[in-house]
Amino acid sequence: MNWNDSLQKLKGIGEKTAQAFHKLHIDTIGDLLRFYPRDYDLLEEITPVSALEGGKRSVVRAGVAGSISEKRVRSLTITTVYVSDATGRLLLTFFNLPYIRHELRPGTALYFRGTVSFRGKQAVMEQPVILTAKDYENLKGHLQPIYSLTAGIHQSIVRKAVRQVLENADFPETIPSKIREAYKLFSHNMAVSQIHFPDHMAALQEARKRLVFDEFLFFLLQVKELKNSGTDLTSSFPMLEVADTGRLLEALPFKLTDDQNKVWEEMKADLSGKSVMNRLIQGDVGSGKTILALLALLMTAANGYQGAMMVPTEVLALQHFEWIRSLSRQHRLPIIPVLLTGSLSAKEKKEVYQLVESGKVNCIIGTHALIQEAVRFQKLALIITDEQHRFGVRQREMLIQKGNTPHVCVMSATPIPRTLAMILYGDLQISVIHQLPAERLPVKNCVIGVSGRKKAYQFIQKEVEARHQAFVICPMIEREEESDNKLENVLEYAEKLRAELPESCRISILHGKMKQQEKNRIMNAFSGGDIDILVSTTVIEVGVNIPNATVMMVENAERFGLAQLHQLRGRVGRGKDQSYCIFVHAVDPEKTDARLKVLESSNDGFYIAEQDMKLRGPGDLFGIRQSGEMNFVLADIYQDSEILLMADEACRKLTEGQNWKEMPENGPILDALERLSRNNIDFPSI
Ligand code: ADP
Ligand code: MG
Repeated sequence: MNWNDSLQKLKGIGEKTAQAFHKLHIDTIGDLLRFYPRDYDLLEEITPVSALEGGKRSVVRAGVAGSISEKRVRSLTITTVYVSDATGRLLLTFFNLPYIRHELRPGTALYFRGTVSFRGKQAVMEQPVILTAKDYENLKGHLQPIYSLTAGIHQSIVRKAVRQVLENADFPETIPSKIREAYKLFSHNMAVSQIHFPDHMAALQEARKRLVFDEFLFFLLQVKELKNSGTDLTSSFPMLEVADTGRLLEALPFKLTDDQNKVWEEMKADLSGKSVMNRLIQGDVGSGKTILALLALLMTAANGYQGAMMVPTEVLALQHFEWIRSLSRQHRLPIIPVLLTGSLSAKEKKEVYQLVESGKVNCIIGTHALIQEAVRFQKLALIITDEQHRFGVRQREMLIQKGNTPHVCVMSATPIPRTLAMILYGDLQISVIHQLPAERLPVKNCVIGVSGRKKAYQFIQKEVEARHQAFVICPMIEREEESDNKLENVLEYAEKLRAELPESCRISILHGKMKQQEKNRIMNAFSGGDIDILVSTTVIEVGVNIPNATVMMVENAERFGLAQLHQLRGRVGRGKDQSYCIFVHAVDPEKTDARLKVLESSNDGFYIAEQDMKLRGPGDLFGIRQSGEMNFVLADIYQDSEILLMADEACRKLTEGQNWKEMPENGPILDALERLSRNNIDFPSI
């Protein structure tokens, strides 16, 4: 079996199931193996009924001890039955499962698994899962993978498919044995198999370590290659300073902060210098990076060249484009901008291609549509990638290749400690904007339990009545089937909110599975003030600027990384009004954990990232993950910084003093590298 084989090679996967998998972006065996579990499930030991505790998920071994009753309440069929073991009686209730009675045969002992609650003294399990003795024995002691699924596909189907692959698979090792030995890494096969079906917790950690190491190593090898081809090159596009930039700065309603000024000076020196610019601009959310991008684009245009800016989402591309267009009209700047995104029609795209190739436009704003083959620039002198942490190295490289060694500037809002940034962006010089604009009011934060929701809704309603807007973030898009972890989902939450709030509150939803045009439409409506409350997944976390939004409420805040919550929070507090962030902690409202407290106490992204690294141990392996930084699937630059350092050392060992491509034992690395970069190209865009 090969990494690139179609999924349909597996027994039991026909066209229909393959289509369901396709919706999850899984088409090949490799895709399936890289579809890592979101979490793991471990069956509990058997608990005697008399020892059951409320709120705890437990397994009980008991027999049916009474007749089965069935009640209908409106559209609901409720089945109840008592079961008992030697220590006591337990009441089971099932909703809309009328056939369950056939499984509840008296006389045989069954295993019931569910969360326990109490009605008075009576222990109750709602909607328990029923297991036979054989099921229980088979599953006991083994961690079972839980995948992030959508409707139409069950955990059991994915588990079976993965098992089938693992039984037959023997994939080639991807890194040299010397490195494996030096860092005590699992073999690739072992890692892939243990990440899905770990024998125990320790094996899971080792599996994860190996796969994270691979991700980092391949990433760093790419960076290395870029560095070899990119730094200290003589600039083909030396520029002169122009009056237009000063004119624009005069006309803006605000003055640049000192940090912004400092970085702008550095950029100007780069652009007018002898060597090509290669710069990373790191600045916390809201620190005002876009204006610096515009200034550089303006200088480029005024010098008679083209500049391009690539951003990770269409929504953001549109926003940048409109902002630049309006400023350029208003102040008669020599910028002629054009927008290039995936959702343009074929005809529109063709027109844009022609404008770009003929040099009739000199500022091209777009998504990864910019790196499509058909796009040819006339004299591309500057490329900027905004929110670089959302792109892979490969995409940056592809854009660079569109020009003849253009100036490169990448911007990122991810606060990464300097040592790590120097590794991850080894090919770039680093500028940092620490300050936020002075007149910004810091966002006010609070952490609440689910019982605080009612009050939070009232608060949001008041803000809406004051003509402000709000975001509500849920971790999931829709309810996960067969999952008993109750993460809030956008679809149901929006309904709930509509019922809670008066009709005058206009509520809409946004998530990654919506069609691109639909997402654009919703974001436009929100930024135009036609929507009051946007219930969304984290798709809104990058870049969008809606100064009128003053409330951000995050459900299941315990499930997000601190750095990610900080990015989310960056969506509010961008205007002149006081903004608020409400973190809802769903697990244990009493124990607001130390992590969320950090957010309450600080608005500084670097400090927060540092604390996040400190506070997260290897304990929370999968529960919390920053969202896809640098296109990593599993790796997390904060939590896995130690593995990153290891991979950096390995990368240097592999490449030092020689051209690594010529090293014979690196064959598998190259294969893997190619595979990885191919996978990187069609990253999901929002
Ligand atoms: P980010 O760094 O997150 O990309 P933006 O560039 O989107 O931040 O800027 C956020 C907001 O701050 C924008 O509305 C922008 O016009 C404004 N802004 C930028 N620089 C300043 C400044 N020096 N003073 C006041 N407001 C500023
Ligand atoms: Mg930005």
